[in-house]
Amino acid sequence: MSRYGDPVCRQCRVEKTKLFLKGDKCLSEKCPVERRGYAPGQHGRARKRILGYGLQLREKQKLKRFYGMTERQFRLFFKRAERQKGITGENLLAMLERRLDNVVYVMGFARSRTHGRQLISHGHFSVNQRKVTVPSFIVDEGDEVKIRLRSAQYEDIKQVVGQNKNKTVPSWIAVDWDNMSAKIAALPTRQDITLPIEEHYIVELYSK
Ligand code: SF4
Repeated sequence: MSRYGDPVCRQCRVEKTKLFLKGDKCLSEKCPVERRGYAPGQHGRARKRILGYGLQLREKQKLKRFYGMTERQFRLFFKRAERQKGITGENLLAMLERRLDNVVYVMGFARSRTHGRQLISHGHFSVNQRKVTVPSFIVDEGDEVKIRLRSAQYEDIKQVVGQNKNKTVPSWIAVDWDNMSAKIAALPTRQDITLPIEEHYIVELYSK
């Protein structure tokens, strides 16, 4: 099997960039891109500059894959971001960051966003005491995200929570590990999003 044999990591090869799809593995030296020291793909060593439309497309694909969205879902989010006051690109990033699948991952209750999506659709989380099974649910300031009582007994969930107890959580989320819950202390701002993305290229792409 190749070093990119993992089907998820293969997506990084297709996009020729790190997409951060495997949770903590992406930040460790186990990431195939880190191990090889150059971008994935047949032409990974070539220093090819991407410009214009190619650059806009790459940033959009990167962001879309990062949050595990289809083109249709992504466009809907973009339209919503456009309707909001402020800078469209920043609105888009902030809204994506507030997706429930992202929130359960960054607060340390899932191994990756994909794992978070799976746990949410299986009904393991509640928001303000109501079960939510929609991964694209947008959390709001003051919301309480909680692992449901019965779900807290599941081995898989106990394991993830045990592993992540020392994880650094963004300041806009306050985690209560004992109660297996988290409060959205504030809405995320652009500064809270560390993803290496230049969102203005996405706005340019969709403004054509
Ligand atoms: Fe795999 Fe993550 Fe590295 Fe991509 S960034 S190759 S998904 S470990």
